[in-house]
Amino acid sequence: MPRYATAIHWFRRDLRLSDNPALFHAVKEAEAVVPVYIQSVWKGSHAWTGPGRQAFLCGNLASLARNLEHIGGALFCRRGEARGELEALIRETKAEAVYFNRDPDPYGRAMEATIRELCREYGIACHEYQEAVLHEPHEVLTGSGLPYKVYTPYSRNWFGLTKTLPLPAVKSLRVPEGIAHGRLPELADWGLEWSGELPLESGEKAARARLKQAVEQSLSRYEERRNDPAADATSHLGADLRYGTISVREVYHRAAEAAAGAATERERKSIFTFQKQLAWREFFMAVLHHHPEVLETDFNPDWRGLEWDDPGAGDRLERWKEGRTGFPIVDAGMRQLRETGYMHNRVRMITAMFLTKDLHLHWMLGESHFMQHLLDGEIANNNGGWQWSAGTGADAAPYFRIQNPWTQTATYDPEGIYIKRWLPELAKVDPKRFLAPPPPGTRLCADYVAPIVDHKAEREVTLERFKRHRAGGER
Ligand SMILES: Cc1cc2nc3c(=O)[nH]c(=O)nc-3n(C[C@H](O)[C@H](O)[C@H](O)COP(=O)(O)OP(=O)(O)OC[C@H]3O[C@@H](n4cnc5c(N)ncnc54)[C@H](O)[C@@H]3O)c2cc1C
Repeated sequence: MPRYATAIHWFRRDLRLSDNPALFHAVKEAEAVVPVYIQSVWKGSHAWTGPGRQAFLCGNLASLARNLEHIGGALFCRRGEARGELEALIRETKAEAVYFNRDPDPYGRAMEATIRELCREYGIACHEYQEAVLHEPHEVLTGSGLPYKVYTPYSRNWFGLTKTLPLPAVKSLRVPEGIAHGRLPELADWGLEWSGELPLESGEKAARARLKQAVEQSLSRYEERRNDPAADATSHLGADLRYGTISVREVYHRAAEAAAGAATERERKSIFTFQKQLAWREFFMAVLHHHPEVLETDFNPDWRGLEWDDPGAGDRLERWKEGRTGFPIVDAGMRQLRETGYMHNRVRMITAMFLTKDLHLHWMLGESHFMQHLLDGEIANNNGGWQWSAGTGADAAPYFRIQNPWTQTATYDPEGIYIKRWLPELAKVDPKRFLAPPPPGTRLCADYVAPIVDHKAEREVTLERFKRHRAGGER
């Protein structure tokens, strides 16, 4: 016997039918369910998103709507503030309960607090579920009940905890009659445009196909190939985990099954290395949860107030964004990002270190640029990755370990395969020439700029700034 005649399921970053705890329980406990997505309203540009991401979101919503129709339901769409729109829907549908999955970000959590309050005001039930992570931040604490600041002990604890199995997909759903569905979001609503196909197919089915491909083709050799940007042998599941077109439980358990059936110890270890990345994701989410101030300042108080260059002086920031720095590995990464909404992890580290340590520009400038372009842009991971590279974050690279873009190329793209893929103007250049700066006054080719800085000299500037700051901070 259902508990409620009508309930609302508020879709957020959980755009799927399978292993969706809030939706699963709403459908089980209510005769009719209103699955609603509330589109945020803004125009033009946004510090945390851009056209590619919004196009991917639109594709995911269109696919979700089709999947809901397939099981007898529909996706209801509204535009505006979540509280106001949900309130109108509660009145209109006379819903007796609201269901949602919790968001790991501070903005999402603040919104949830207002929805709990709204449900209290209306005297209706509010059911919320853990969905975005395998373990929420309060589950993974030190022996003294404190948040971890270092990944390795965090991950040891994380791996030791029991991991919930995925729930089955919702197979049928009844929506109430007489309620306007509204229309699906379109890019034009935000005044945005995206020409051509997105490099990543949207929707739950495509996410599932990516997981299958990763399990069958990549994970057993993940350890040896994950740092090779030309091989592109990682899962590409980041965007799916961000928009919830696949559940992290499903990803983890499919990997665990593959590990159990691995032919060799080496393959098993390789899959474990992949699972460790899921723990990094939750480590950074926990850091953001316990230290929301990282969105405004350096995680490590020792480095607050460090000297950075003025981004308005000169065109270095623009050149970095456009991939015109004269450092082939950096430019290849920045062009991959612009063209595909993705950048390989190794190259994310190189480009981030380059912005902060060679150009001396604040990591927040890079953080925002990445969020605007990465389809997998995830506030916690991105902030964690940027602060790691800048040397200011939780368990960050020590400030003196400054990656040299030339030697990084020698290690990770020695044949220049990745570089040539994204910089066609260098197609005919001998890749050995990508491993060291060109002699002064020369260029790699007529169409490619000379390096805008001297890495060795800028490295010294960075070391000097960190040392001076530390000395000034000592009492
Ligand atoms: C400067 C910088 C910015 C970054 N920004 C983001 C971001 O906005 N969103 C994002 O998901 N990751 C970010 N990362 C981490 C990492 O680069 C991406 O998760 C990874 O490249 C995504 O590709 P994939 O899905 O094929 O990853 P895989 O290697 O297949 O890993 C599987 C999943 O594990 C998680 N993961 C992997 N590496 C990391 C990591 N180092 N930290 C946290 N989670 C990880 C991701 O969810 C990823 O999808 C950033 C790293 C750096 C250095």
